[in-house]
Amino acid sequence: MGTTVNAAGLTLAKSVPVARLDAFAAAGMGASPVWHAFCVDAAIAFTDAITAVGDLRLRLDADSVRDLGGGIAWGPADYYFQDGTPDPRCARGLLGGVVRRLAAERVSARVGHELEFVLVAPDGSALPDPAWIPYGASGLVRFEAFLADLHDATAAAGVELEQVHAEYGRNQIELSLPPAPPTVAADTAVLAKFVIGRVARRHAMLASFSPVPFAGSVGNGAHQHFSLHRDGHPLFERGTGPHGVTDDGAAAIGGIVAALPHIQGMLTGSALSGIRLQPGLWSGVHACWGLENREAAVRLVQGGTGNPHGANVEVKIIDPSANVYSASAVLLAAALDGILGGAELPAEVPDDPSKLSPDQLAGRGIALLPGDAATVVDALDRSQLARRLVGDAVVDATVATRRYEHRTLADLDAEVLAERLRLVWSI
Ligand code: GLU
Ligand code: MG
Repeated sequence: MGTTVNAAGLTLAKSVPVARLDAFAAAGMGASPVWHAFCVDAAIAFTDAITAVGDLRLRLDADSVRDLGGGIAWGPADYYFQDGTPDPRCARGLLGGVVRRLAAERVSARVGHELEFVLVAPDGSALPDPAWIPYGASGLVRFEAFLADLHDATAAAGVELEQVHAEYGRNQIELSLPPAPPTVAADTAVLAKFVIGRVARRHAMLASFSPVPFAGSVGNGAHQHFSLHRDGHPLFERGTGPHGVTDDGAAAIGGIVAALPHIQGMLTGSALSGIRLQPGLWSGVHACWGLENREAAVRLVQGGTGNPHGANVEVKIIDPSANVYSASAVLLAAALDGILGGAELPAEVPDDPSKLSPDQLAGRGIALLPGDAATVVDALDRSQLARRLVGDAVVDATVATRRYEHRTLADLDAEVLAERLRLVWSI
């Protein structure tokens, strides 16, 4: 099975018998251009460029194929035109291109993904649950059989786990994946989601990767940790800036923070995403940065004995409705843009901004990122910065799907919307 993630964050796939593996990798399997624009309600957000006419080829990356057992192998796939040229709407291809742009400036990146999901009943309803203790041992024991199988299945698939815990939301579990080169890291996040989906089904459950599985409770984030090196030197430690960041590291953080209002539509663009973006829910809704600040959109994590992977920045605003490849791509492109343009590092926010009044926030220049889907999508559409960072093709496909979704769904009551979309980002 070869998977791809589209502009609405949906995981799409084609499968072939093993004997056709080489054909999947070389010639590719047919896919209509509308794959890019399938929306969460199965409608298609047609544009002038994405129509019923034309055909693409989905090519399996044969080097990344993993045997998942039970007769299924998995691999990520990229979009090409029929003449073999890469399709610029391919988010995985975009991420590869950004990695090459970084390399041309002697910058290398590693990305670590956090996967939060809520376990639900097979019909999508909440599991009966008399009590849930955030980060509780009881949650891990409650789902012991599922988690034991998940450990085995991820290990068999070659997915290393950094840690697993019971999260804040009811029946919410989090897995952290170790840092890896950006495309490998995003592929592994998709693979992990695939494995989670299969194992949950074996235990008569489903895993919701919705930003808001249930209205009125904590959402699912899809935080990404970025570490950067230039000429082999880390950018977020051993420098002379705040908390040891280097000049390039400071400019990278400055580039990301400045870009957030432009690129938010690629990080939290769904019709549901805004409901998660509340101060106090650790979803990083404040457009600022701070050391170990869980209310900041960008949290600086220091290296050292307690963090042998080294210093990194965690972008907390991302949710699992985002396309994992284009979210990494746009953030890395923003970091590089900051480095090349010498972006200024804004003042650090060392305290909890969710405790500040609107006047205090304004006085300190801390903006709240908007929760209104129309505002978020329009900002992306209008942004010359976003278009410069990742190109028109991906921006336009993202805007088309997200705009269609919020126009058709945004009027629904939050509870109805959460229920309807609870499982669309699942596998
Ligand atoms: N579930 C929170 C979110 O929606 C994040 C909690 C945490 O910081 O891990 O982003
Ligand atoms: Mg978490």
